[in-house]
Amino acid sequence: MRVLIGGGSGFVGRELTRLLKNKGHEVTIISRQPGPGKITWGDLESGGLPPCEGAVNLSGENLMNPLRWWNEGYRKDLFSSRVDTTTILAQAIAGSPSPPRAWVLVTGVACYKPSLTAQYTEDSEWTPFDLLSRLVKEWEWAGRLPETIAQNTRQVVIRPGVVLGRDGGAMKQMMTPFWLGLGGTLGSGRQPFPWIHVSDLAGIIGHALEPSPNTPSSAVPQVYNGVAPALNTNYEFTKELGRVLRRPTVFPVPGFVIDALMGSERAVVLTQGQKVEPKRTLESGFQYQYPDLNSALREIVGS
Ligand code: NDP
Repeated sequence: MRVLIGGGSGFVGRELTRLLKNKGHEVTIISRQPGPGKITWGDLESGGLPPCEGAVNLSGENLMNPLRWWNEGYRKDLFSSRVDTTTILAQAIAGSPSPPRAWVLVTGVACYKPSLTAQYTEDSEWTPFDLLSRLVKEWEWAGRLPETIAQNTRQVVIRPGVVLGRDGGAMKQMMTPFWLGLGGTLGSGRQPFPWIHVSDLAGIIGHALEPSPNTPSSAVPQVYNGVAPALNTNYEFTKELGRVLRRPTVFPVPGFVIDALMGSERAVVLTQGQKVEPKRTLESGFQYQYPDLNSALREIVGS
């Protein structure tokens, strides 16, 4: 199968590319930069969709970029890097004489309202309530294909929690303080911490790309929550990481400090959280390699 991956050069994209290539598939990355095995977004707009059986979009300005101050310019980039790239790819698919079999858009669980008690599945109704949920709404809307195209191209939306892996994402920023014994809970620590190991997220995307004779084509995308089945809190995550690293985790970071450092609109990702179940992901037959924190963190830390 030939797979086109927008943002395939990033943290999740590198893992997905490895997985697909190991299975003998061909990968072309869509990037802002030209290079071997890549096309640019401009090439896609001017030349149309190259022949492919699967398309994925993983593009997006990093929400936790420590080098960027939380301001209007950053907020704009968060939106445009996701919504505009998704629009370009969806339009290229819709305009292609031979559209791919599957179109997979990776968004996030920020559409579900943070709560200590509510438990969400892919069937949960939601309406935007803050900046990040508005982003998910616009992003997923931008990915929708016209009905005539959706009859032949399966539309899938995957909503990941915090993606954990060795060479990128949240762990890259957390490892140093935790190694130094300066790790601790964030905010109250009671907030849910939806997470997934990067290999499992790549696996779910790969699973969604495979031909699926039992899934009827539909004008509405099939949604899969990209989270591990274990439902953990920030406290449980912090304590497990401390145990695996054999380091103390006695320095809680108060919520107001995180709000002040990061801007409260994005700090919600750390200080609040959602209990998200991967109901449909499990029903689809996907088998997790890392269903619990201990196995995931051991793999990442390398012990
Ligand atoms: P990365 O931060 O690694 O970025 C992915 C790619 O996006 C980059 O390689 C880059 O490709 C492209 N990109 C970055 N900034 C911009 C920009 N301003 N405009 C256009 N393209 C840009 O993302 P991840 O791999 O961690 O995540 C993949 C997707 O999953 C993202 O959409 C993210 O929002 C979502 N997600 C990730 C989570 C996580 O914990 N990592 C959690 C939940 C959702 P290039 O430089 O080649 O153009």
